[in-house]
Amino acid sequence: MALQESDILKALESVTTPDGKSLTGTGRLGSIGINAGKIICTIAIDAQEAAVMEPVRAAAEAKIRALPGVSSAIVGLTADKAPSKPAAPTPRATSKPAALPGVKHIIAVASGKGGVGKSTTACNLALGLASMGLKVGILDADIYGPSQPRLFGLRGKPRMIGPRMLEPMERYGVKVMSIGFLIDDDAAMIWRGPMVISAISQMLREVAWGELDALVVDLPPGTGDAQLTIAQQTPTSGAVIVSTPQDLALIDARRGIAMFQKVDVPLLGVIENMSSFCCPNCGHVSPIFGHGGARAEAERLGVPFLGEVPLDMNIRETSDEGRPVVATDPDSHHAKIYKDIARQVWASLDKAAKPAPRIVIE
Ligand code: ADP
Repeated sequence: MALQESDILKALESVTTPDGKSLTGTGRLGSIGINAGKIICTIAIDAQEAAVMEPVRAAAEAKIRALPGVSSAIVGLTADKAPSKPAAPTPRATSKPAALPGVKHIIAVASGKGGVGKSTTACNLALGLASMGLKVGILDADIYGPSQPRLFGLRGKPRMIGPRMLEPMERYGVKVMSIGFLIDDDAAMIWRGPMVISAISQMLREVAWGELDALVVDLPPGTGDAQLTIAQQTPTSGAVIVSTPQDLALIDARRGIAMFQKVDVPLLGVIENMSSFCCPNCGHVSPIFGHGGARAEAERLGVPFLGEVPLDMNIRETSDEGRPVVATDPDSHHAKIYKDIARQVWASLDKAAKPAPRIVIE
């Protein structure tokens, strides 16, 4: 018989909190997501309890994992309980999240709204960085619509290494991790804000990324509280905003820019996607959404403009077939656009990371 919520609650009865109470009786358990043997749930804590509650979290996860029929279990601690404190992080937070060991730079790819080509851009940006000889990973944090498995043409499940760590999948020389590997495509998961943040932070910290020059993070679209918290809790070196030239997307993109400014994450630049349409039959280029809007807006806001990616059948087809253009047609016009964007992104990260030259007066 399929696993029920009651089976999980029963297994968790024997897990006790530091005050000796059963975890199930504390009211701290969040809703339990069950999907074909994959379990995700959260334990609500106050921020200062993180250290004492970690063994409880680990024990709960072990109990769930030991149940027959469970293939993976993620239990996360979430600290959004105190109603007196606002859930959203305070602007200009002074405490930076801990860096990810072995990972030099985390690059967030964001968009003000869905459907602007953020994931396609993130995928080709990661491949562009890899084409420069860099060690690259991509974390698909677009939990509502994970598309990196499809873009990279990856299927199957990541291997566990030891009790907690997951091994990322790998394709075209890029390490890939996505919630899409852990949850089936058609699964209607209801994600509450804290669960999103907890799942993303686990994919960040409990995946054996190894040594990476760059980890590209494909963020969920939008600029709500969840995105703001992710932006704040991820040790990001810089962010890239993807926008279409349409006005509406630009208004959303502006919100994206403001979001990163609020949490002090440097903006590496704006990419205009679907900037013009090249007819596959006659080669005529039409600016169907208007053109140059993102460039003008970036200039106005003093944010670097990284480039224009045309709306092109080839980009759509190769993306949907899991053969991203930068990997499979690296000398094509479109691949060169993405690679040029990757070079600019890397140059600005590299510049920011280098210490200022020492001036020696002889
Ligand atoms: P988002 O991550 O913003 O929701 P996606 O990257 O999933 O957007 O892209 C949405 C759709 O648009 C996909 O079908 C993708 O193949 C297509 N697409 C993205 N960028 C381009 C482009 N430059 N030319 C043609 N199709 C594109």
